Parts: sequence; C-alpha cells; structure tokens
Amino acid sequence: MSSPVPPPPYKVVLLGDSSVGKTSLVTRFTTSRFNQHTANTIGAAFITKEHSVDDRKVHFEIWDTAGQERYRSLTPMYYRNARVALVCFDMDNVEESLNTAKYWIDQLAVNGGTDSSVPIRIKLVGNKRDLLQTHEDTRRQEEQEAIEGFCSENDLEQLWETSAKDGHGVNELFDGIVKDIEEDF
Ligand code: GDP
Ligand code: MG
Repeated sequence: MSSPVPPPPYKVVLLGDSSVGKTSLVTRFTTSRFNQHTANTIGAAFITKEHSVDDRKVHFEIWDTAGQERYRSLTPMYYRNARVALVCFDMDNVEESLNTAKYWIDQLAVNGGTDSSVPIRIKLVGNKRDLLQTHEDTRRQEEQEAIEGFCSENDLEQLWETSAKDGHGVNELFDGIVKDIEEDF
C-alpha cells in the first residue's frame, strides 16, 4: 500500500486596511461570535482552526495581520508561503479601504507565492455587508460600480461579501479557500 499523501498546508493570510473587520472575520469563523469592540491587532495573530468540509476535516493556519501602516514592512513574512490571501475591504467605507486593498494586491504580485512557486490566490472580501442596508440607492449604485471596476482592473473573478456581525458568507468563504488550495495542490 502506498503511504498517504500529506495534506497541503491550508495557510491563509488576511490583509487590508485597519478596522475593515479582519480580526472579526477570523473570530466569527473560529468561534461563531462577534464583538462590537475589538482591540487593534499588534503585528499579527496566528490562529488555527479545524474546518469540516464535505466529509473530511482540514486544518487551517490563519495569519491575521495588522492593517496599520507602521506594520506594513513586517507583513511579507506573514504571507510568505501562504496559499490564499484574503484582501479585505469595508463595504461601509469603500473608497478608502479599496485603496489599501490595491496596495496589498500590488505587494502580493511582487512578493506573494510559495517556495514551491505556487502562486498565491487572492480573494477579495467585502466585509460589513450588513451595513449596506443603511446606504441609499444612489450610493449603493456608485459603490457597486467602483467594486466592479476594481475587480476587472485587478483580474479578480469574484467578490466575496461577508458580515462578521451576522455571519453572512463567512463559511462559504472558507469553503472556497479549501477549494482553491486543493485545485493548486
Ligand atoms: P481589523 O482592524 O480589520 O482587524 O478590524 P476589527 O475586526 O478589529 O473590526 C473593527 C470594527 O469593525 C470593530 O468595531 C468591529 O466590531 C466592527 N466590525 C467588524 N466586522 C463587522 C461587520 O461585518 N459588520 C459590522 N457592522 N461591524 C463590523
Ligand atoms: Mg485586527
């Protein structure tokens, strides 16, 4: 009998402006909870989580990075060898947070990927989707156009909409990550 193939590393990194909800997304995914008040992430946090998908379990290694500019020079070490980068923005603060998302996408193009030269997969995550209901129709329209333009300019297939607050889209996002990783493995 041949020995079983070791599983791929399910290593994920969250990038994006501070306060877009990166830590909250990880907390929602790992504990099913949400806090209105969160502490700023210092440097980065490492979280592991066993996740059931279909009929098996995968073991996620998640790096939740700080968004603040003063930590930016440290961040490449967190996405080194990561398979998937979640580039997160705030659907309630689209213009500013997409600008920072662009910064990270450009950084990943230069420094992303693994030693085995598997390119890092980028998923664009629009968090705080629950707050969209407070936006008027014209504002929503403009934001949607800005997001669509951003996706096509940066060759991003899909926007993953989430709410760490009500949990919308969070499990689907992590299921999608498993699929990405296994396609490349
Ligand atoms: P980070 O700096 O990107 O890690 O952001 P945090 O997770 O610390 O969240 C910043 C603030 O946004 C906190 O007050 C959170 O409670 C809030 N927040 C995070 N995600 C959501 C969300 O999906 N909806 C709403 N309404 N607030 C959120
Ligand atoms: Mg944080």
